[in-house]
Formats: sequence, structure tokens, C-alpha cells
Amino acid sequence: THQVHIVGGGLAGSEAAWQLARRGVHVRLSEMRGTGERSPAHQTDALAELVCSNSFRSDDDEKNAVGLLHHEMRQLDSLIMTAAAKAQVPAGSALAVDRDVFSAEVEAALAAQPTLEIVRERIDTLPQTGLTIVATGPLTAASLAESIGAATGADSLAFFDAIAPIVYHDSIDMDVCWMASRWDKGETKDYINCPMDKEQYLAFHAGLLAGEKTAFKEWEADTPYFNGCMPIEVMAERGVETLRFGPMKPVGLDNPRTGRWPYAVVQLRQDNKLGTIWNMVGFQTKLKHAEQVRLFRTIPGLENAEFARLGGLHRNTFLNSPVLLDREFRLKTAPHVRFAGQITGCEGYVESAAVGLLAGLMTAAEITAQTWSSPPRTTALGALHAHITGDAEAESYQPMNVNFGLFPPLHEVKKKQRKEAYTARAKADLGEWMASTRA
Ligand code: FAD
Repeated sequence: THQVHIVGGGLAGSEAAWQLARRGVHVRLSEMRGTGERSPAHQTDALAELVCSNSFRSDDDEKNAVGLLHHEMRQLDSLIMTAAAKAQVPAGSALAVDRDVFSAEVEAALAAQPTLEIVRERIDTLPQTGLTIVATGPLTAASLAESIGAATGADSLAFFDAIAPIVYHDSIDMDVCWMASRWDKGETKDYINCPMDKEQYLAFHAGLLAGEKTAFKEWEADTPYFNGCMPIEVMAERGVETLRFGPMKPVGLDNPRTGRWPYAVVQLRQDNKLGTIWNMVGFQTKLKHAEQVRLFRTIPGLENAEFARLGGLHRNTFLNSPVLLDREFRLKTAPHVRFAGQITGCEGYVESAAVGLLAGLMTAAEITAQTWSSPPRTTALGALHAHITGDAEAESYQPMNVNFGLFPPLHEVKKKQRKEAYTARAKADLGEWMASTRA
């Protein structure tokens, strides 16, 4: 028999399971994949599958909020961060991974825990009793989503995210493209760059506007896009220059064949350790698959591109956490149920895992009847926690990546030094919190 039932073996559920199991807690981890069932975005039965990009974003823990979150999670022995280190592929200052190696590392570490049982099963209703962590993600299976809807009495919100295509490396014409990082000084050449001149860019822009899109009529009218995942064709609609100032920005990218920056660029980032598949950076799209193939093959260097995966559109389900959850991510109306991961309204792999980590620590404290004290809100973990459990406006609550805007401001510090000041304060405060809360 188990002490804690975790539903969902994604980023958050895997991390929560790890934090509990390594403290000797008996855990049942239920994952529906492996039973023949998958969400529309998942492609494997592996735990902690990365459904789109293979990047955990910036690993800079001095100037970047998500890099700081990496640091804090490492301090707390995060399984997701350990597995990421083992699966790392080159990506400049970002932390990117081979997704298969990553998932295999997570699964192996969990399988080796004597108090953890991984069960391939779909859970259709919220358990009536027993400590539970629901970490079923933005694509929670419909039956459970209904049960959650019934228990919360509130309509779950939904919005759209879009995923970017992935291209086979050997189908990219490297006589046209070149390897470089932005403002390359010779040492890092992590991205493949496809150059466009003005005429090509304008034609491509027009193609995006004209391209046939997948229709999602039920929600289309008023369902907002999350900014970090806006489809390129939606960005293109905002103006002819929008993409040139966004994912197709050419600045700092000298084309060795011309010695100049191109007019616009399409960048690809390595997606697996072998370097055989590369994803199109910022190219989330809801264009129809045939349109994607046709249009993306007009990109110089991608004329013969073969796609390992095309872009797509998905629904995103999350709770109005500031209203529904208490300070420990528990459902106010059924406090034996805790939520973790993106379903709480954080956004991103790292954030989801971070909320899973916190949910694991909270549950461990509850089992041993210790009073839980949240990480200080000057830390990235604390800032995320505060955002989810009460700081955000309930009416306009939207999933959010971790960012310095969630931290108590440091107006007195000059703007140039502010990021370092945030991270220095966070590291000091996390250290104190860890010393005071852990035996
Ligand atoms: P998930 O990782 O999705 O894990 C949930 C798990 O629960 C899954 O394994 C699922 O099979 C299982 N499950 C669902 N219902 C049940 C049930 N009833 N019973 C048992 N098991 C169940 N974030 C980024 O940082 N970068 C990106 O590029 C990115 N792209 C995204 C693209 C798409 C299509 C989606 C949907 C999200 C994307 N996200 C991205 C956002 C988010 O970070 C990820 O979805 C992340 O995986 C969320 O972690 P999670 O643990 O909350 O959920």
C-alpha cells in the first residue's frame, strides 16, 4: 500500500515522486501512457517526455530567472536537473537535452527507488481519500479533467499552445546554411542558420498569411495565445517586420559566404545527442501539415527538408489556482488533493518540474507532521509559488514562465545590476531557507 498517489508521470509528477521516494515515502505513480493511450502531443510512453522543444532555456543563474530556477532545483537535488545534465546537448548558454536520453535517465532513477511503484494506468476520477498529487499536465485526459471540473466547481480555462517542427539534419543543405551562435566569437557555433534575402523573406511572409490553418472553431474567438508560444503565422499577421524582430532576427549572425548579416534568418537548434534532428526555433505553427512542408521548403537550405515532426496546435487546461488552491497547492474543497505542474498554471518544463518538486516537499512535510514553510518569495521557487497561490489576479490568471517580474522589486539597484542583484538575493535567501527547514 502506498502513502501518496501521484497521477501523471510527466515533468512534475516524476519530480514529485523522486522527492518523496528519496525520503522513504511509499508512492504509487500512475501514468496513462503505456496503456495504449496518449495525449495528442506525447509521442512515447517514456516518463517525463518533452513534448516540443528540447530546451530547458537559459542556464545562466546570474542574469536569468529560469537559470536561477535551475540553480535552486539543483540545490534541492532535483531529478529533472540531474537527468538534464546527463542528457545535455550543445546549445550555447541554454540547457538543451537529448529527449530520449533525458527520459530514460528519469525513468531509470525512479525505477531504482524501492518505495516507488510505477503503474501504467489511467485515472478517471479524483481519488476520494488518501494523499494525492494530480500532475496530469496541460493535456489531462478528458475523463479526469471532467472530474476535476466537477470538484472545483469552476470551468477549467483553456487556451492554445503550438509546437514547432523538427527537421532531419541530413536533409538540410549545409552549402547554404551555416553554423553560428548570435554574436559568435568563434568558440560557440551551436545553431544552424538559414539565410533569407529581402525578396525571399517577403514571399515567405506572404506565404504564412495565405497558408491554410487548422481550424479550432469552438474556442477560436476568444481563446488567447500564450506569448511565448505564439504561432509564427499569428506573429506574421501583426506586421511584416514582426518576425524579423522575433524568431527570424538576423542581427549578430554573419553569413560566412557574404560576410554580412542576412535580411532574415531561420535558426535550428540541435534536438538530440546524436545531432540527427534539429528543431526550428520559434516556429510553432498551426498551419496544415501539407502547407508546412510546402512553405518551409521555400526556406533557403531547407528545400529538401524532411520533417521528423511537424508543428501543431493543442489545448491547455489549467486551474484558476489563486482561487481554488491553498498555499500548499491543495484543493481548498478537498485538501487531500494537491496539484502540481502546468495544470496549476505555471508554464514550461522547468517551472512544471519546480512545482512538482515543491508539491513533493509539501507532501513529505505533511506526512511527517512538520509545519511547511514556503521558500522565500525572493527566490525563483518562492516567486512561482506566490504567483500560483495568491499573488496573481484571479480574473486574468494565465500560465506564466518564471521571470523577474514575479520577484519583489529591487528599485534601489541600478537597472544594469538588477538581474545580478535578484539572483544574489535569491541564492542567499534559499540557502537560509534550506538551513532552517531541513534537518
Ligand atoms: P506533462 O509533462 O504533460 O505530464 C502529464 C502526464 O500525465 C503525462 O505523462 C500524461 O500522459 C499523464 N496523464 C494525463 N492524464 C492522465 C490520467 N488521467 N491518468 C494518468 N496519467 C495521465 N514547455 C516548455 O518549456 N517548452 C516547450 O517547448 C513546450 N512546448 C509545449 C508543447 C505542447 C504541445 C504542450 C502541451 C506543452 C508545452 N510546454 C512546453 C508546456 C509544459 O512545460 C509542458 O507541457 C510540460 O510537460 C508540463 O509538465 P507537466 O508535468 O505538468 O505535464
